[in-house]
Amino acid sequence: MLPPLFNPEYVLALTDVTKLSVKNFDRLLTPDEVTYIYRQCGAFWEYDGNPDTPHVESLSGLHLDWFVNSHYVLSHTNLCQLFAQQAIRAMRQYDGSIAWALGSSTAASDFSKDVANALEARHDVFGVGADNAQIWKGPLIGRHEVICQFEELMTRATATNAVRAGLRAAHPYELTFAPFVFTIIHRSEIEEIEGSKVLSLVHYPSRCWKPEDCPPCKQGSKAILAKGANWQRLKKGYIGEPCKECGQFTVVRCGAAVKCLSCGATSGCS
Ligand SMILES: [Zn+2]
Ligand SMILES: [Zn+2]
Repeated sequence: MLPPLFNPEYVLALTDVTKLSVKNFDRLLTPDEVTYIYRQCGAFWEYDGNPDTPHVESLSGLHLDWFVNSHYVLSHTNLCQLFAQQAIRAMRQYDGSIAWALGSSTAASDFSKDVANALEARHDVFGVGADNAQIWKGPLIGRHEVICQFEELMTRATATNAVRAGLRAAHPYELTFAPFVFTIIHRSEIEEIEGSKVLSLVHYPSRCWKPEDCPPCKQGSKAILAKGANWQRLKKGYIGEPCKECGQFTVVRCGAAVKCLSCGATSGCS
């Protein structure tokens, strides 16, 4: 058992955070610790103010100057289980039963599965339709079976609401939702969704902009979705132009010149 951690910069740094598991913590992680784990896993990105580098467009269409990609944390199955256990700690005041633990596809699918395992609740996954619609293909959920949602990130509650819409589209009667929803990282000022209180481990209400009001856009930075190869581009500062030598989109600014991280070619003054 690790001792209580008061300063993650010094204490968590002594261990490989990707090896942490449920047995290391018998308490809630602090927001600093959660943030530290995300950073160490390469899941945290911040805009550095350089307009040659891109910034993030969220699923809701708003532009952001920081973002987390939970896949880089939750793909470590031990960390996924750790955060599932943390979710259960965070909801401890709630003493009702939960029949279903569900999360949006795909980022929260495995996370909510781990919560379901720990709660001995039922679980199934959503398909993803046009405009990121969440499509329920699981069995019919009883009218009085309590459904609780477990997400990894909430920006505008787009995914959380899409899950509810998907469930409703698949059921001819009203469904019962728990009095809370959980998200590991909560970056909006939304306090509740249809009467369900938002619980989180980290709550940083933070800036997001409509495209027309976005300062990074005004500086000339390009907005991109934080998905797939785009995440590498965000993390490494790729400028989004192909290398003139090898054609890879792995060109970074390097002083007054640009350099390709794939083949090493440089251009501009050097
Ligand atoms: Zn923007
Ligand atoms: Zn190259």
